[in-house]
Amino acid sequence: MRTKMVAGNWKMNMTLQEGVVLATELKNQVVNPSCAVVIGTPFIHLATVAELLKDSPIAVAAENCADKEKGAYTGEVSAAMVASTGAEYCILGHSERRAYYGETYEILKDKVELALANNLRPIFCIGEVKEEREAGKQNEVVKAQLEGSVFHLSAEDFGKIVLAYEPVWAIGTGLTATPEQAQEIHAYIRGLVAEKYGEQVAEDCTILYGGSCNAKNAAELFANPDVDGGLIGGASLKAADFCAIIAAR
Ligand code: PEP
Repeated sequence: MRTKMVAGNWKMNMTLQEGVVLATELKNQVVNPSCAVVIGTPFIHLATVAELLKDSPIAVAAENCADKEKGAYTGEVSAAMVASTGAEYCILGHSERRAYYGETYEILKDKVELALANNLRPIFCIGEVKEEREAGKQNEVVKAQLEGSVFHLSAEDFGKIVLAYEPVWAIGTGLTATPEQAQEIHAYIRGLVAEKYGEQVAEDCTILYGGSCNAKNAAELFANPDVDGGLIGGASLKAADFCAIIAAR
């Protein structure tokens, strides 16, 4: 049985104090969830929030890590540093990092390897931009993203990865993929995993949907057989909204 999951991505929101308030609310409200729950926080929050949530069912993710192991890279945060905070996951390949920080397939490949080497589970994001969807190229885009950064992994390492399909045109826009669009491409992605690693690895692979997923549309997205949960941006910033999405899973 593959893991169902709802993961939050706070992005560059929340002071440390605000983050502690939100994490405390979540700790109090997420008591016995029917799926895995993860919150992705800015680096600065990780140690405090991981400590606060250590006896709760909520795990913590970084939103990024460096593509270098250690050394003279001023301002960077290594996978080992992330792991030392108690975080268990690391969001990698988010479209905002690809678009604004020039993260290429090769850079992401290095980040994925470093995350895994430090016992962090990557939540690896893939997805097409609007023009690519309009040109019907979404399948080839996600295939290239997987081949470029994660399909070189052993089956054992690949099994530690959570995939998140996030159509870029749906992120933060209020536009959501229809349940049919989500199911179609999630099934395609699972098929690619099956071709590469076999049916069992594909069957066990958690594939999240992300892109304006909220308390209203979560249930119909999650009802699809290949949509195992959500990666949630804006709606993860309020405990009530995030808890309603967890309840829909
Ligand atoms: C995201 O950034 O991962 C995301 C899904 O954002 P939103 O839910 O705000 O569209």
